[in-house]
Amino acid sequence: MSNRWIPRWKVVELIYADRSVEVCYDESTRLYACPLCSPVCKENGVPDYGSYFTNQEDLKFHLEAHLNERWRKVKRVKSEEGEEQEGEDED
Ligand SMILES: [Zn+2]
Repeated sequence: MSNRWIPRWKVVELIYADRSVEVCYDESTRLYACPLCSPVCKENGVPDYGSYFTNQEDLKFHLEAHLNERWRKVKRVKSEEGEEQEGEDED
């Protein structure tokens, strides 16, 4: 049997940038979870992936990063078209 982490998420209100944000707090590990990275925490689920923080300050920084991301949204540099151009065509 594996030792599963069963979080007991509590939705707590965090005042950030003059607005209130609902975040998840697990009383057993005393970790805060980012509600944007792992929305499932609000439904008491166990996120596969998430960002966890031991204090509210760190979480606020993280939320700020999300906001910046949203504002920026548009430009994501895609480097997947892996063709490198040598610059000169041979005739
Ligand atoms: Zn996040």
